[in-house]
Amino acid sequence: MNAYDISYNSLETFTKDLDPKNLKKLYDLGIKNLHDLFYYFPRAYDDRTNIMKIGDLRGEEYVVLKATILSVASPPTKSGLKMVKANATDGSGMIDLVWFQMPYLRKTLKPGEEYIFIGQIKSGYRFQMVNPEFKLSSSQRKISEGEILPIYSSSKALPQNSLRKIIHHFIKVYLHIFQENIPEEIIREYNILERREALKQIHFPTNNKLLEEAKRRFAIEELLILEMGIVQKRFQSEYISSGNYHLDDNKALVKKYLSTLPFSLTNAQKKVITEIYKDLNQGKIVNRLVQGDVGSGKTVVSMVVLLYMLENSYQGVLMAPTEILAVQHYLSIKDKFEALGVSVELLTGSFTGKKKQQILKNIADGKTGIVIGTHALIEENVVFKKLGMIVIDEQHRFGVIQRKTLRDKGVLANLIVMSATPIPRSLALSIYGDLDVSIIDELPPGRKPIKTKWISTDSDIKIMYDFIRKKLSQGRQAYFVAPLIEESEKLSAKSVEELQHEVSSYLPNFKIGVLHGKLKNNEKDEVMKQFKNHEFDILVATTVIEVGVDVPNSSIIVISDAQRFGLSALHQLRGRVGRGSYQSYCFLISKTDNDTSKARLQIMEETEDGFKIAEEDLRLRKSGEIFGTKQSGLSDLKFVDIVHDIKTIKLVKEISYRYLQRHKGQIDNVFLNKDIAEKFKES
Ligand code: ADP
Ligand code: MG
Repeated sequence: MNAYDISYNSLETFTKDLDPKNLKKLYDLGIKNLHDLFYYFPRAYDDRTNIMKIGDLRGEEYVVLKATILSVASPPTKSGLKMVKANATDGSGMIDLVWFQMPYLRKTLKPGEEYIFIGQIKSGYRFQMVNPEFKLSSSQRKISEGEILPIYSSSKALPQNSLRKIIHHFIKVYLHIFQENIPEEIIREYNILERREALKQIHFPTNNKLLEEAKRRFAIEELLILEMGIVQKRFQSEYISSGNYHLDDNKALVKKYLSTLPFSLTNAQKKVITEIYKDLNQGKIVNRLVQGDVGSGKTVVSMVVLLYMLENSYQGVLMAPTEILAVQHYLSIKDKFEALGVSVELLTGSFTGKKKQQILKNIADGKTGIVIGTHALIEENVVFKKLGMIVIDEQHRFGVIQRKTLRDKGVLANLIVMSATPIPRSLALSIYGDLDVSIIDELPPGRKPIKTKWISTDSDIKIMYDFIRKKLSQGRQAYFVAPLIEESEKLSAKSVEELQHEVSSYLPNFKIGVLHGKLKNNEKDEVMKQFKNHEFDILVATTVIEVGVDVPNSSIIVISDAQRFGLSALHQLRGRVGRGSYQSYCFLISKTDNDTSKARLQIMEETEDGFKIAEEDLRLRKSGEIFGTKQSGLSDLKFVDIVHDIKTIKLVKEISYRYLQRHKGQIDNVFLNKDIAEKFKES
């Protein structure tokens, strides 16, 4: 039996090391094998090198204090619990120490003696510790020669000291089993603490510096197991290729197109385009997520890439999640592209009969250079002559299968997906979806910040309507958004109707259009077109307008029952305004009492930064329900915090990629291979 197998063996096989009575107790803590035991890391440390002063305490922290007991008493309690209460000082301040159901401590604790106390501080009238661990400060510490002792999550059945002893014993006897599971060259290049040393240090640290190194090592190790597994899959994927094709790097068409735009590209847009060019010029199959906050100008980036490919004789498609969006993209480029001699077609589910046949023929013959469309593009009868670039807008609306079906239509499976949803979803995707990531981290200049106000009273609602009336009279337009109560079209239509009724009673002199899921696709388009042409002033809608819709003259958005929307949906909706030169406004109407909802609305008032909003969202959610992280493996990381350790995550992704490239997709370390197999076992 090799070392690896032993490490995943049940603890039952270690009869000579473990009292059978303790087996069940360890099980209850989730420790079933040697590996679990060694990776049962302390939740804190009794760190004598880092003793806090009572006078420096702030609040609810986990600390080690060294203080002399002044008095001990056993006051009666209302609940009848037996309590021992002591009072201690270290010269900088006083602290109360309280123990429940341990009456014997009354005799153990000696006034005048100095002790080490370890525990969670509670702040109140005076700082207090409940059931702290304690030792005479003069007493010899047993388990380690070091100053820092581990504090594990223990249980009543298996108290701190017993657990310490067990782990200490196993480390002494079985550490050799844990051979290095990070490839040697990575250890050396990144100066990573060796595995056995790190295991020793994480449990029984010699000093804080080594403890930090051990923590760093295990964060990297944990990510490496995840990343290597994912990147390896990518290497085995059918879409991997390098130097597979050659482009002439001709940019005349792109230059002409850019000269027709009323603005110049932002540096962030240029940077992302360069990153994509780089892939293409190396003949690499593009597999890239382009991420940019709402309004950062992702569309132009995709158009540049499509034109570049077209000039190199490849067709391209842009697939959007809704018909409205596809039509909007189409209309925004049609004239410009045709002036450049580029033929563009629109293909959506609404096309039928002869018209559709003609479009399909043009695509198959290669007459059409660029196709913009919806899911209809995925249908079997859509065949390309020489498809070389696929762009998917607002990609979170599409599944993996749909992506693959479209890629399979290409002679080159180049894929760019665009998303306005910032971390952590895209972070998860960048790993799970094994995509490269480009970020447009800059908005076009001159955008005025959107003023956002949370409205919670009837009188404020009235004031809001007065304000909107004024703006509409000045020629602006406004969106009103009703929540989709269920995925039921009937219900959504109803909530829209109610909202429409309210709006028309407050703003009787303005024209109102209505958009909801019950309308047919061509009816929706008609409504959008009319709104864009300012044929009416107000658009009452469901979240159909959530993604991508671009009407610069519309400078107001009112979201009713805002507590029903998630933060990212609110952020997306708000992104519908602030697209022109007018000062824009977002009103969030909600009378909610719920604290989490209130916190969300406050965040919306405070910031427009999509990344910040995503982070706050993460904080407000319970970790299990964070966006798409569950499927990605990111949600069960123990030593890594996906918000704070983004840099490490990126680094490890790079390390993994480079390693596998050098080693042709093979990992030259049996232990790492087994850990990966173990990690991906269930999925
Ligand atoms: P998103 O990234 O949300 O898809 P869009 O591509 O719809 O954003 O762009 C938002 C608006 O900004 C559009 O009206 C677009 O024409 C404009 N825009 C894009 N790039 C720039 C730029 N570099 N300077 C000024 N305006 C720009
Ligand atoms: Mg967009």
